[in-house]
Amino acid sequence: MTERTESDSRRLLRRLRDTLAEPGAGQERLDRIVRLIASSMGTEVCSVYLFRDDETLELCATEGLKRESVHKTRMKLGEGLVGRVAKSSSPVNTANAPAEKGFRYMPETGEEIYSSFLGVPIQRLGEKLGVLVVQSKEARSFSDDEIYALEVVAMVVAEMSELGAFIGEGDALAAPHKHAVMFRGGTGQEGAAEGRVWLHEPRVVIINPVGDDPVKEMERLNKAVADLRLSVDAMITTSDNGDAEQAQILEAYRMFANSRGWMRRMEEDIARGLSAEAAVEKEQSQARARLETVPDPYLRDRLHDLDDLSNRLLRILTGQGQDTGAEMPDNPILVARNIGPAELLDYGRKLKGVVLEEGSVGSHAAVVARALAIPLVIHAEKITTEALNGDHILVDGDQGMVHLRPDETVARHFREKIAMQAAAQSRYASLRDQPATDKAGTTVALHMNAGLMADLPSLAGSGAEGVGLFRTELQFLIRSHVPKRGELAALYARVMEAAHGKRVVFRTLDIGSDKVLPYMKRVEEPNPAMGWRAIRVGLDKPGVMRMQLQALIRAAAGRPLTVMFPFVAEMSEFTEARQKLLDEIESERSLGHKLPSILEVGAMLETPSLAFAPDAFFEMADFISIGGNDLKQFFFAADRENERVRKRYDMLNTSFVTFLEKIVARCDRAGTPLSFCGEDAGRPVEALCLAAIGFRMLSMRPASIGPVKHLIRRVDLGELKALMESARASGADNLRPAVMDWLSRQDV
Ligand code: PEP
Ligand code: MG
Repeated sequence: MTERTESDSRRLLRRLRDTLAEPGAGQERLDRIVRLIASSMGTEVCSVYLFRDDETLELCATEGLKRESVHKTRMKLGEGLVGRVAKSSSPVNTANAPAEKGFRYMPETGEEIYSSFLGVPIQRLGEKLGVLVVQSKEARSFSDDEIYALEVVAMVVAEMSELGAFIGEGDALAAPHKHAVMFRGGTGQEGAAEGRVWLHEPRVVIINPVGDDPVKEMERLNKAVADLRLSVDAMITTSDNGDAEQAQILEAYRMFANSRGWMRRMEEDIARGLSAEAAVEKEQSQARARLETVPDPYLRDRLHDLDDLSNRLLRILTGQGQDTGAEMPDNPILVARNIGPAELLDYGRKLKGVVLEEGSVGSHAAVVARALAIPLVIHAEKITTEALNGDHILVDGDQGMVHLRPDETVARHFREKIAMQAAAQSRYASLRDQPATDKAGTTVALHMNAGLMADLPSLAGSGAEGVGLFRTELQFLIRSHVPKRGELAALYARVMEAAHGKRVVFRTLDIGSDKVLPYMKRVEEPNPAMGWRAIRVGLDKPGVMRMQLQALIRAAAGRPLTVMFPFVAEMSEFTEARQKLLDEIESERSLGHKLPSILEVGAMLETPSLAFAPDAFFEMADFISIGGNDLKQFFFAADRENERVRKRYDMLNTSFVTFLEKIVARCDRAGTPLSFCGEDAGRPVEALCLAAIGFRMLSMRPASIGPVKHLIRRVDLGELKALMESARASGADNLRPAVMDWLSRQDV
């Protein structure tokens, strides 16, 4: 084998590209490619292995091994040397392959006579496509230069595959992005939707991975990098808000954008014959492969930064920005790695569903998806590399599943499910103006949770009696700056107007924990959920809370005003916050402003401690609302954001139900109205049990009002209460089995 020169490399890449232009089916092209590579690299063997499914590689073309083994020889990811290359996404280079650990002898190929082996991954933006191998009889290690040359070739093969050059007979040669694929993720928001993929950041397509003129390609790269540096500098200047962490990230960006190592590797790629964009992508693929194996979170973050920068550079070079000119399809389902709340809100109600690779149940995007009432699936791993704009997609938010390019049988079943849900919703619509009264005449008031102006139309549509929880932090989360008092007052006034006299419970800002405002200084805390959040921030740094209270008072201007303080852990916090509100009323009065006609001040009971507060607290609060999401997390010491432990604890656990009953009893004694506004209030069975133990007001997402009302109207709550009591008396640790058994005997 000869020492490779850059011009050899360029010649080979050009020849490879020419095979793309030549007629012929995929297999012929692959055969031609392996011949070309073997002769150019001076090796006896060149083979291409492609993934047949996520776990299996198949020999798809070879020069030098026995022809009859093509499409027969297969290995699992990690198996043999080829499997090792694929699994580790890095080259394997050995002078004596049969002596290598993990070598697997495959007699049908006749490869035992070849001693040296060099395999490199064929990958595209972190997506594993296959392995490219050269082998020779002579026992020798391949030089760094040869490894590098083969990696460049593998990059071109990956791009050719993406462009569909190898499509033909057989699964292994099937076109990429054509198969049906199912993703199992997690539920972010329930519901089912069918539609077409709309990628938040469309895939960059590289039409020509091979550059004809290295000087020209180098100029293109240099110009694009200069643009990139300017845009990073601009980001740094405009975001100079004193946030040390953000500044650090941007500095890291600047460091990469000016990194000589990164530039030098891309320049070498170009010298070998890649186009500027293919060079960027090659380095990006390798960085992504490294990302999968790096355990150090700091380094992972830096590699993420590099990935992000490479993306920007690719978009500059290909001119494929976010706005690709593609038209959003009908029934768009948004597919993204992750998305911020403001961006999601920009898409608004056009979207039929959202699928994210990352995200969490409590993330801001999830909160917005909930407000928009669209199904959301999170943790759908690698969907952005699989999905293309316009692909047919089914989103099952109930099961946390996604079917991409489903076959017709799956789609038919799915449509039946959607039709059933729609039929149920229309049945519920007929109940809209009916009260949630049980068979014995007990009535439960059903209110809705909201957080955006966009939620308000649901007030009339759902039949909710009012807004039992208006989460004001959403307005803060979707902005890039602290909203001004006037802005907020106008917004709250619009919310009150849209409610047409129905009661709206405004919860003051609940930030901290998972809800970190983009423009606020982030305080590193060991355990943010139990840290400086909600009313604790409001009392320690009262500026924002006072501004918000003023905005609420001004918005009310002669109308009733209901304010609720979140996350109150002891009576004195409530007393202090309430006093701040009363002080603001006084100062508004002295300014001659119109005051609210009625003022109600309540507290959220979200920590077990408050349930044991002195009687004076229950007497002072105008109302109490249980934030079940937080109360459950602290009662069971189980993080609501942690999928592993979250699902372990059930609201119908006997201890929790007993605890809730104690709160009901204390409120009853004090004559304080009590409601429940956590997610459990919107689950029909849980809602029924809450009503049975004495809750007369529940606040939930609008879509739950119909199902909850339907169920309450079909049962006798007193009977259910007696049943729950007897299950507890008989020693049940969880009341659900008894409740479900009882329900199965009801006419629901
Ligand atoms: C709760 O904790 O139950 C609640 C309603 O508040 P949030 O989910 O906004 O914390
Ligand atoms: Mg809460």
